[in-house]
Amino acid sequence: MGDKDRLVRNLINEGYLKTPKIIKAFKSVDRSVFVPKEHRIHAYADYPLPIGHGQTISAPHMVAIMTELLEPQKTDKVLEIGAGSGYQAAILSKLVNKVYTIELDPELADFAKENLKKAGIKNVEVIVGDGSKGYEKEAPYDKIILTCATEDFPKPLIEQLKEGGIIMGPLGDSFFQNLIVARKIKGCLERKNYGGCVFVPLRH
Ligand code: SAH
Repeated sequence: MGDKDRLVRNLINEGYLKTPKIIKAFKSVDRSVFVPKEHRIHAYADYPLPIGHGQTISAPHMVAIMTELLEPQKTDKVLEIGAGSGYQAAILSKLVNKVYTIELDPELADFAKENLKKAGIKNVEVIVGDGSKGYEKEAPYDKIILTCATEDFPKPLIEQLKEGGIIMGPLGDSFFQNLIVARKIKGCLERKNYGGCVFVPLRH
């Protein structure tokens, strides 16, 4: 068994990957395509890796947890804040209709675009900008996923989420956060806490 298959098998055995279509998505996206050359030997290890500019590609188990909790549906339009390497967006692209992903750093946005192109993924659009403002042009979204840490969900994102939709992200300070998953019910967020995590902070 190759390292790539072993990673997916471990994510299943450890209980992070559960849903068959999500397991399939993980098998179909090669993480090494999204990792800078110098770290490629660690591409199938279950920890975050540097992608330059002080940013990181999340650990595979964190991508698995978030993807499962997002309950992706084939018809979904998803907004991601923090494209980084493009890996999380690539996984989601296999499970939903369309992903818009916003990246503050123009060079990282180019990195994500190139990686997605190499992976042959066509239903992800990378946008350069401040994701805390959301992306009004394509709103409303079925799901919104933040992959950088913030004190609370920015208001524009809540407004751009469909009624019944899911928003999730690491909420807390720049050192430690809780993974919060919320559903928009009658305009208000019903939140659930899925425990501690560490992400790079959202910047302005
Ligand atoms: N989802 C990424 C990992 C993201 S790391 C992956 O799969 O690789 C967090 C990213 O959020 C970094 O690339 C950082 O530059 C970006 N970021 C920080 N503040 C932001 C903001 N206000 N808007 C958009 N992106 C932001």
